[in-house]
Amino acid sequence: MSKEADEGVCTICPYCGVGCGLKLKEGEEQGEVRLQPWFDAPVNEGALCIKGGASTEVVNHEERLMEPLVREDGEFREATWEEALERVTSEMSRIREEYGGNSMGFFGSSKCTNEENYVLQKLARRYGTNNVDNCTRMCHASTVAALRESLGAGAMTNSMQDLMEEADVYWIHGANPAEQHPIAHSKYFRQAALEDTFVVQVDPHVNKTSRDADLHLQVKPGTDIPLLNIVLKTILDNGWVDEDFVEERTEGFEHLVETLEDFDVEEAADICGVPLEDIERAAEVYATAENAAIFTGMGMSQHACGTDNVQNEINLALVTGNLGRPGTGVNPLRGQNNVQGTCDVGAMYNTLPGYVPVDDDEGRAAVEEVWGFEVPTVPGLSNVEITQAAGEQVHGLYVMGENPVISEPNGNEVLELLDEMEFIVVQDIFMSDTAELADVVLPATSWAERGGTVTNTDRRVQRMRAATRVPGNARHDLDILSDVGTRLFGEGFDFDAGDPEEVFEELRQVTPIYRGITYDRLGLEGVHWPCYDEEDEGDPFLYEESFDTPSGLGGIRGVTHQPPREVEDETYPFVLTTARLEEHYNTGTMSTRSPTLIRRTPENFVDINPVDADRLGVEDEAYVKLVSRRGDVVVKASVNENVKPGVLWSTPHFSESPINRLTNDALDPVAKIPEYKASAARVEVD
Ligand code: SF4
Repeated sequence: MSKEADEGVCTICPYCGVGCGLKLKEGEEQGEVRLQPWFDAPVNEGALCIKGGASTEVVNHEERLMEPLVREDGEFREATWEEALERVTSEMSRIREEYGGNSMGFFGSSKCTNEENYVLQKLARRYGTNNVDNCTRMCHASTVAALRESLGAGAMTNSMQDLMEEADVYWIHGANPAEQHPIAHSKYFRQAALEDTFVVQVDPHVNKTSRDADLHLQVKPGTDIPLLNIVLKTILDNGWVDEDFVEERTEGFEHLVETLEDFDVEEAADICGVPLEDIERAAEVYATAENAAIFTGMGMSQHACGTDNVQNEINLALVTGNLGRPGTGVNPLRGQNNVQGTCDVGAMYNTLPGYVPVDDDEGRAAVEEVWGFEVPTVPGLSNVEITQAAGEQVHGLYVMGENPVISEPNGNEVLELLDEMEFIVVQDIFMSDTAELADVVLPATSWAERGGTVTNTDRRVQRMRAATRVPGNARHDLDILSDVGTRLFGEGFDFDAGDPEEVFEELRQVTPIYRGITYDRLGLEGVHWPCYDEEDEGDPFLYEESFDTPSGLGGIRGVTHQPPREVEDETYPFVLTTARLEEHYNTGTMSTRSPTLIRRTPENFVDINPVDADRLGVEDEAYVKLVSRRGDVVVKASVNENVKPGVLWSTPHFSESPINRLTNDALDPVAKIPEYKASAARVEVD
């Protein structure tokens, strides 16, 4: 055993985007790993939240997939790798011959490394399609779209360190870092708040972040634009605009002024359900601070107007000059340990690695030169669109580490659509609801068994390292993809990706923001992108001199209220909104198998206000049926004042009560993110 392994192997927590470091030490038994604190870890200095602390519980879990499975006469049976991969590649070849390259869809995953997502998207392009996407589409696609359009990069503008040290105000909008990014909250944000950073939180739900906040604006779901327009109008009317910054570094200010010219703040406050004076106070606190930082989460992004929601946060930062220096900016908080990187390396239907649009001839040619083949020139379908095209344009699906049956909105329709696929292959570590529908299931390795890089929420690229042996006949995602590509494309085309470092060496050639990063340079600290050459230290905050837009200016654009696509009526009188729990993760394939995490919250629930519960006769902890236009789900009621009357709040983690059977699949027209955060629903009591 190496000295490093003897002392524990340094790697990264597999859960949220904070990217906490931890050490793993291999135990006596096959696959057994023990957690040890990594006191020098750059982000968390040894601290872990409940999920990180329980992260090893799923590595050696008895339900891990160990052998390839193929479906025969409707049932799964074990197969050799040879048989399983032959089935995968012969079906993929048949589908391409019969229907063309655009007849397959490929789902990458933010649970996988940069290298794995990079090779998956390359496989899709070589197959002949840009129908490749990842779960970021479901969480922050609109944030990325707005930030890229108006500032230049679809990423956190600042770093956690400078935000802790320099910000005087945190504006946390649609995010709940105390529960969803607990170590960032306890180590950075809460610390700063204790040292007199003023915290405003905007969220329809009372949670641990709002309990710590100086001011909680409990907005009605889907009314964030009118709320921020009150803030902006208050700033304009009181002369709190940073005129020099607006003059020198922005464009579009006049459009915002025109948009708000006849804006009625009292009417808007009624729409949001928040007292006008509270919003005006928040506006003053933010606008008059020396440095004010915005944190944005899925409460903003997961709307059919998600791109405009985030644009209004950008408007707020630009008109007050809160960009381009420490302690400021617009900062998306990412929910998985590689949400940022999955997009950076091109697992997207419209962009190649480094965010090169697939229809940009010059940029695409540069990538093609490295890859040695031509890339399709037309943007493909996003993940929800791939599902919606099942049986029509799309006939086969390649899923790496995702679980769309539980994660996509309008889940009953997703089930019906996936049934239309002629062939589905799933690579995963556990049998998921999606894997249950597959024709072939390929057992992959977990986070503790493989190496690679992940990019955390503040653009820090970090290395994960293998700490234990591969269980059973499982294989690394990279090796599976290499094998599939080699079989599909023949001996004449070398698709063998190599090991993670070899993949990274190729990846950085086509991803300029990663170009200066090497495995050696990453060491134990990681490097923040952009890092354009090997002398470049990486940037902890962006836009000091100019924005990365064509004009170099930050884009202001006024936006107006767009009610959710589905609003309450007599039949569906509630607005149902969803969010995550501290102790669970995504569709629960890992967290619900963790004894520690499932003990803390064993099943789904819905928060309902006591006024509504009394009226409907709902008892606390009784089971109720939630019904939307798309289906129904039975779930335990939690009667409390965490939501206002008329609002229901539940979680997406549990396949036994899959709340996404109810959510709306209306898409933001720019970013194609679904409207998870506001669906009309009713409550039925037996
Ligand atoms: Fe893991 Fe996030 Fe918790 Fe850190 S805060 S231990 S990265 S889940």
